[in-house]
Amino acid sequence: MKLFEELLSRGHEQIAFFNDPESGLKGVVAIHNTTLGPALGGCRMWNYKTEEEAIIDVLRLSKGMTYKASIAGLNLGGGKAVIIGDAKKDKTEKLFRSFGRFVEGLGGRYITAEDVGTNIHDMENVKIETNNVTGISKSLGGSGDPSPVTAFGVYMGIKASVKERFNRDSLEGLKISVQGLGHVGTHLVDYLSKDGMQIYVTDIDNKRIDEIVSKYGCTPVDKDEILNQEVDIYAPCALGATVNKNTIPLLNCEIIAGAANNVLENSKSDSESLVKRNILYAPDYVINAGGLINVANELEGYDKEKAFNQAEKIYDTLSGIFKRSKKESITTTQAATLQAEDRIKKIATLKSFYLPYKKTFNLRND
Ligand code: NAD
Repeated sequence: MKLFEELLSRGHEQIAFFNDPESGLKGVVAIHNTTLGPALGGCRMWNYKTEEEAIIDVLRLSKGMTYKASIAGLNLGGGKAVIIGDAKKDKTEKLFRSFGRFVEGLGGRYITAEDVGTNIHDMENVKIETNNVTGISKSLGGSGDPSPVTAFGVYMGIKASVKERFNRDSLEGLKISVQGLGHVGTHLVDYLSKDGMQIYVTDIDNKRIDEIVSKYGCTPVDKDEILNQEVDIYAPCALGATVNKNTIPLLNCEIIAGAANNVLENSKSDSESLVKRNILYAPDYVINAGGLINVANELEGYDKEKAFNQAEKIYDTLSGIFKRSKKESITTTQAATLQAEDRIKKIATLKSFYLPYKKTFNLRND
């Protein structure tokens, strides 16, 4: 693998490898861009087949975080960590404390959080060694579960999408399908039902479906039928890549707006196919930024109301992206990318990377 070529082509500032045979830690932190502030991004623990696979993953994910923070209006850069190992067997306090010490060694240029394969408990072990960690439990001064804020941001994004497509402010009477009734999906259904929507729900867990159907009077749909359910809006809140070249012809909706990460299997070609089918796509990392907004708030002393107020702005951000996409005849995915890059370019200087000792930062300009 030509590492420097990879860093150059993806625009990364730094990559750091951590090795601690005592704890079994083999970790990599990638810092993509710190123009806006310290790089924040979760720590993924995964049994990668090869080291190259781990490096590509951390480079790809950290770049995504730069865009997500920028578009959310946060003064944070993009970073990510991976720990190579089996999250079911290899986790120990020693391992995460060792990881915490390495994160501390980066001097504040990278702030970690939980991600696939890690949880709040692991982050609390990290916290013993460094303050550069976020997303910890309320009892330790953290913000706890970010899902309520994520769901609120998605709800605002759905409202912005409906305004764009149907030129109406109310969601009443519109049909929506929600795929996945987990942390975010459940809170989202609560908002949507209060607005009088007709809600179709599915999950792989029938118990979740039964609970939601009996509480909110939603219509249950088989998990394999949800994509071709005739609705105004499809809200993916389970897995990524549900929208791809095989499923796009099946879709029976006018809008895709949901919480899942990496909704499109192929960001470029799937966005273009959606345009051809006249389906409005709310880019995933824009509409689901509430989770990041929530953990970012923790860094300044968590204020729940402030986090919700910031997530509310997802409405305006998405409206701006839709406007740009129409004006420049580009996909909403391209418009979001340009919007995120513009903000970084506006403040970039020759030495724009973040030096922790040089400045304190406010998480948002407003
Ligand atoms: P979760 O694990 O709590 O819930 C996911 C739900 O989807 C579960 O109930 C699961 O049974 C269901 N599911 C899995 N496969 C399914 C399938 N094939 N069909 C239907 N249902 C299926 O996860 P969550 O925290 O609610 O997050 C949902 C999505 O939103 C994920 O993609 C996550 O990455 C993304 N996201 C979450 C947050 C957050 O704050 N939690 C923030 C940003 C993005």
